[in-house]
Amino acid sequence: MLAKGTKLYSILKFKCPHCHEGEFFVDRNPYHLQRAGNVLSACPSCKRAFSKEPGFYYGGMYISYGLSVAVFVAVWVSFSALWPNLPLWVTFTTIAVLLIALAPWFYALTKYPGTG
Ligand SMILES: [Zn+2]
Repeated sequence: MLAKGTKLYSILKFKCPHCHEGEFFVDRNPYHLQRAGNVLSACPSCKRAFSKEPGFYYGGMYISYGLSVAVFVAVWVSFSALWPNLPLWVTFTTIAVLLIALAPWFYALTKYPGTG
């Protein structure tokens, strides 16, 4: 499932969506916030251009929203099932911290043209 050359491999490793070899971002680590989301102009391996028309990556916002809702629901259901008497603020604080921690990774994922 995560074999090199597959779409999922390229998405999770931030590789070129066409050749699955070259890098997609200037910096692969989404937690290097100064360069987070900076996309190379072209693939260093196959030379295919990454820059699309203005607004091409705006659709990624919907993917980010969906991922955030999925995390929210997963934590909510898990906490409700495992600890039914847990105070509400603990669940909300956990979700907030988790979503803030995952935000750079979600942002990078949604910049990827195969996802957004
Ligand atoms: Zn490429």
